[in-house]
Amino acid sequence: MLETPATFIPLMAPQDDPDPLNFVFLAGQMLVRTDDLALPPSALLPALGVDAARLYPVGSLAGRYCQSTWCARDTPAPPGYEWRGMRSLFGAHDDGFMGVAGRASQIADWARTHQFCGVCATPMAMLQGERCFKCPACGMMAYPRISPAMMVLIRKGDSVLLAMHTASAAKRFTPLAGFLEAGESIEEAVHREVFEEVGLRVHNLTYFASQSWPFPHSLMIAFTADYLDGDIRIDKNELSEARWFGPGDAWPEKVPHISISSILVDAHRP
Ligand SMILES: [Zn+2]
Repeated sequence: MLETPATFIPLMAPQDDPDPLNFVFLAGQMLVRTDDLALPPSALLPALGVDAARLYPVGSLAGRYCQSTWCARDTPAPPGYEWRGMRSLFGAHDDGFMGVAGRASQIADWARTHQFCGVCATPMAMLQGERCFKCPACGMMAYPRISPAMMVLIRKGDSVLLAMHTASAAKRFTPLAGFLEAGESIEEAVHREVFEEVGLRVHNLTYFASQSWPFPHSLMIAFTADYLDGDIRIDKNELSEARWFGPGDAWPEKVPHISISSILVDAHRP
């Protein structure tokens, strides 16, 4: 699963390291060497339009300093390098490295989208000792945005409810999921989303696990719940299908344990 490795320590202050790990992003893609998917050396950064002021500390991975940055949309990859979607690198790099890359992508995205104050348009300044931009004119502060979302696997006897989301590119059956609304608890979001998406009521909510999901900045919080009452009535804007999967059914094919969704489903496979 995409997760933070034990050898990672977050850092807030830039370090002067001659050979850092440079995570460079452009519109959700990461720059890697075509041959071996290695990260670019610091010597390549000026040609990408990246100066020292646009390098943001991420942390230390097994003693090696990690920094993150972003490039303008039309920046070509240097010879021998390519822009690669993060998902296409899962399995090619280990999960811990990809977990750090996910952190780096969120920091780069936060820096890219907070160059100017959203209140008064003054250029923002980094606060020392915190992962925070502060407006020198009006004091507005901006931390990296993290968007919590719930995921729930509903159980009924020896069956579980899986759904096909209309937005699912992979056309896979998965547990229900959805973003929190402002002012909502995670439990309230589970009950609301379940009722909105499939017309059911659930009880016995039990925490399963959580996972940072850097597309672009979600925190997925997964639960199991037991069916209480109601008949399946799907929200056709969100779902194309939802049904119970029991021991006699053809379950969705197993996929690598990159996201919490596959782990949650596999924990209930007959
Ligand atoms: Zn301001």
